[in-house]
Amino acid sequence: MDTSNINDLSEVVEADRIHVWHHLSQHKQYEAVDPRVIVEGKGLRVWDATGRETLDAVSGGVWTVNVGYGRESIANVVRDQLLKMNYFAGSAGSIPGAMFAQRLIEKMPGMTRVYYSNSGSEANEKAYKMVRQIAHQVHGGKKWKILYRERDYHGTTIAALASGGQEERKSFYGPYPEGFVPVPHCLEYRSQWGEVEDYGLRAANAIEEVILREGPDTVGAIILEPVTAGGGVITPPEGYWPRVQEICKKYGLLLIIDEVVCGVGRTGKWFGYQQYGVQPDIVTMAKGVASGYAAISCTVTTEAVFEMFKGNPNDPLDYFRDISTFGGCTAGPAAALENMRIIEDEGLLENTTAMGERLMGNLNALMEKHRVIGQVRGKGLFIGAELVSDRTSREPLAEATVAAVVGAVMKRGVQIGMTNRSVPGFNNTLCLSPALISTADDVDQMSDAIDGALGEICG
Ligand code: PMP
Repeated sequence: MDTSNINDLSEVVEADRIHVWHHLSQHKQYEAVDPRVIVEGKGLRVWDATGRETLDAVSGGVWTVNVGYGRESIANVVRDQLLKMNYFAGSAGSIPGAMFAQRLIEKMPGMTRVYYSNSGSEANEKAYKMVRQIAHQVHGGKKWKILYRERDYHGTTIAALASGGQEERKSFYGPYPEGFVPVPHCLEYRSQWGEVEDYGLRAANAIEEVILREGPDTVGAIILEPVTAGGGVITPPEGYWPRVQEICKKYGLLLIIDEVVCGVGRTGKWFGYQQYGVQPDIVTMAKGVASGYAAISCTVTTEAVFEMFKGNPNDPLDYFRDISTFGGCTAGPAAALENMRIIEDEGLLENTTAMGERLMGNLNALMEKHRVIGQVRGKGLFIGAELVSDRTSREPLAEATVAAVVGAVMKRGVQIGMTNRSVPGFNNTLCLSPALISTADDVDQMSDAIDGALGEICG
């Protein structure tokens, strides 16, 4: 059935209403309004079943469609690849799988191996399994704990949630597996230590304190987002990353960087960690890898990590005992290769830096007019504006008011997002992550809509 030419959209809307269980949705609320079925996209714009046009400032809702909608060249590459060879898994390779791994590694000095799966959660699970197997095989059962940071998010499966620093997402799904230990967040605007001179160092040293408390021989790894996404668009404070790297070296921790959101150009470099000069041991990525044209995620490692899994040829059970069925789909790496070509040929990293600065500038300028904007933070086209009811006390603006602002922005034809309830009472950050092809007119339209909405809702 070719669904691209269905004309009777009322049937589609009804099927969606009665049969689809939507992600992150309360259905009592969802069913009270007409379901929003998106039928078409081009560039940064999408159209729903009623014909309504929206400027998408969140790249498909969850910061994914980095190269924008309607990319014919990706569709063609995927189509040709599927007709030639769609799938084979296990120990066999594929042309796009091999070629994308090679191109990706060129962008990631120090890394050498790419392990394919399908989602960000899965990529992180693979990383955790690597840490655990190394603990068993290399460290004699020690160094099995994995540190994670408050407010960070690493996915929705049980171990990924166990390593999630967002209480709202976690609260109904325990008990969790052992060995995931939190460290303090690094949002200076909400400093845990009052006003400190060197907040970046203080926050990084807090990681060392946790390692010493847990016992360094029990801790094997730490997972961090380069810029925390759903937890509040938290850019790391000055001095944070170099100290984190030192601490990892000092205590023999593997540094896992979760690039699921920041990766593939979002911050203006290929990977977010490259903004901060750190060298990871394992990097995970998903969303922007193929911009949502196909499902693909990668767990990328150094040769040193990979070496530990090469195995003893005389022991048939000595290897990484893991598989992902759809890690053998060729559509993912085929789309990812073309996605990467587009970013390069169209100069999208440079555009992201330039347009990110423009959007940050626009939002910072709005601070003069709108006292509810407490702080604007971000890197590249990945920007958050934290809203407060009082600038001095930094009391967060009520969630319902922030949601009303998002609704009023939507009424003006622009879709923005809101970060998660990472800490109770703190669902107060507007979030923008438009496609890397954004133009000056597009980003101005986004900030104009926010300006109008804040005026309407917050006076
Ligand atoms: N890591 C980060 C930083 C994320 O933001 C997300 C998803 N929003 C994930 C991991 C999980 O990715 P997925 O939903 O593809 O499993």
